[in-house]
Amino acid sequence: MKATFLGVGEACDERLPNTAIWLESGLGASRRSVLLDCGFTAPPEYWRHCSNPEDLDAVWISHFHGDHFFGLPALLLRFWEQKRTKPLIIVGQPGTEEKVRQAMELAYPNFLPKLAYSLAFHTAAAGESIEAAGLTWTAAASGHGQSNLAVRIGNGQHGIFYSGDGMATEETLRLAAGCDLMIHEAFRLADATPGHGTVVQCIEMARSARVARLALVHMQRDERRERYSDVLALMGQVDDVEVHLPDPGDELNL
Ligand SMILES: [Zn+2]
Ligand SMILES: [Zn+2]
Repeated sequence: MKATFLGVGEACDERLPNTAIWLESGLGASRRSVLLDCGFTAPPEYWRHCSNPEDLDAVWISHFHGDHFFGLPALLLRFWEQKRTKPLIIVGQPGTEEKVRQAMELAYPNFLPKLAYSLAFHTAAAGESIEAAGLTWTAAASGHGQSNLAVRIGNGQHGIFYSGDGMATEETLRLAAGCDLMIHEAFRLADATPGHGTVVQCIEMARSARVARLALVHMQRDERRERYSDVLALMGQVDDVEVHLPDPGDELNL
């Protein structure tokens, strides 16, 4: 599996695109291409890395805040322009299909029926495990202002955990246990913010979940700029977990 960090920012960051990860799993016929979240600034980052309209197999939507799913209308529009024909799988919590259709209808009225490719919606409720696009998707609820699902995606060999937004919960801790890579939002370095995680909490969670690699994303823009060296110093003190603070474009190979 390969994770490319298309964006690592929060909703209102003037420098960093919204947190979105392009996941590539397997090779040849079993290769799968998955986008984890698609906020309003994510599509150009995806297009810069992949211009082939048929490449993407599935999109995961963690929750319905704009920095996590308002990029879908542009993504779907460009696939239409580029004459995509392969069905696109969209996976998320119950209600995802309705939200995506509403967003598309607001952004580009009457466009959904024109798409030459079909949209296949798959629902994973908290605690559920489903099969879609040849991968296993297991979801757990985090602690966020709006219903958010963390997801663990497995290909039979490796597993990647992605938090979406929100504080760790007992359920997300269990979901992350033993995965190869944990990608978690860390809004602040150490000061608890309701509905969000911190760098300190994420490192503790990675230890508890016996996760060897942790990537921190979605850091609050001022905190990331002003406390960048503090974050790096803290990461440098951790020797039992490989901690990353990726920049846009960075890749991690499993
Ligand atoms: Zn967010
Ligand atoms: Zn959110």
